[in-house]
Amino acid sequence: MKRIAIIGAGLSGLVLSYKLAPHAQITVFEKSRGSGGRLSTRRVEDFQFNHGAPDLTPRTAHFKSFLEGLERKGIIQDWKPKLAPMLDETSEATSALSWPEKHLRGTPGMSAIGRHLAGTQNVKFKIEVAPLQYQDDSWKLYSTEDKELGQFDIVISTAPAPQTINLFPPDFLHTDKLHTVQYSSQFVLMVCYDGMLETGWQVKQTNNSPMIWVNCDLNQDSLSPKSCVVAHASPEWSAEHFDIERQTVKKELNRTLERLLPSDLPAVHYLGLHRWRYSQCTRNIDENCFFDQESGLGCCGDFFKNTGAEGAFESAEALAQQVESFIKS
Ligand SMILES: Cc1cc2nc3c(=O)[nH]c(=O)nc-3n(C[C@H](O)[C@H](O)[C@H](O)COP(=O)(O)OP(=O)(O)OC[C@H]3O[C@@H](n4cnc5c(N)ncnc54)[C@H](O)[C@@H]3O)c2cc1C
Repeated sequence: MKRIAIIGAGLSGLVLSYKLAPHAQITVFEKSRGSGGRLSTRRVEDFQFNHGAPDLTPRTAHFKSFLEGLERKGIIQDWKPKLAPMLDETSEATSALSWPEKHLRGTPGMSAIGRHLAGTQNVKFKIEVAPLQYQDDSWKLYSTEDKELGQFDIVISTAPAPQTINLFPPDFLHTDKLHTVQYSSQFVLMVCYDGMLETGWQVKQTNNSPMIWVNCDLNQDSLSPKSCVVAHASPEWSAEHFDIERQTVKKELNRTLERLLPSDLPAVHYLGLHRWRYSQCTRNIDENCFFDQESGLGCCGDFFKNTGAEGAFESAEALAQQVESFIKS
């Protein structure tokens, strides 16, 4: 059986691993403690924040049917928050709206999706793969801590394109195309208040503000009621402030958030910040995935034909087909 290493246990890495598992010996390496990549949930005490993608919106038949399977198993569920109309920072919401499309959210959080998909796969966590080396007719993988990870016939990277460029040898067939990929960066502020927020909405999108998206959820699992807010800074603001000291960014974003929430706010119980260097792909490659049969190297993810989680899923499926036919040929 061919030995395949998959770098990354986000949606694309896990879908790929699941599809190829019957045909090869698969090992997935993930540098974080958990699976899901940008479909992530931060847990603090007895409350949580979905600080990556807040939900999934299926548009293609294939992704819809994949998500229906997860919905049937109770891993995700329909998310129908009350929406505030699109506003300037200072305007008041007058009536709640709802989304025309189906939105699905992991339950209890977005990381449930990765956890479920990783369940039956061979995933090694807390291992950051170092740039690849070709030795003795195979790819010999090492961690960035210089630990030997094994020898593989095929290596697939699902890391964002700039990280894949660093992992793969410079003469990888598609390096030039990988260099064209661009991402937005994004700060995500997480605030937990001691008490209930009387907003009248759960999701608010704003114009002309450093903050573009705010989600307030009441945490009912806590011993005392708590409101958890996840707020996304705009990509423009995030890029401008990317290298600024974190405490300053946190304070500035919290001041912006306070302007978007009712004035009688309960006490802040927790204030956190996450900085995504690669949040969402803004310039993608008009192909499904890359696989070079000669070198045994390939990559897939949300930087191909379609962006976002749906794109990551489709790219992984396309690559799984290519690798499977190569193995069988
Ligand atoms: C704030 C935010 C909001 C978003 N909103 C939406 C939305 O509304 N709709 C939507 O469709 N999408 C949204 N997205 C994008 C969506 O989350 C991603 O497109 C999708 O999850 C990408 O999946 P992936 O598997 O391709 O990549 P990732 O999830 O990034 O997975 C790659 C994995 O590789 C790991 N890795 C990288 N390098 C190494 C290494 N050297 N060794 C080991 N492991 C490594 C990483 O830790 C990561 O887990 C959002 C993302 C963010 C951050």
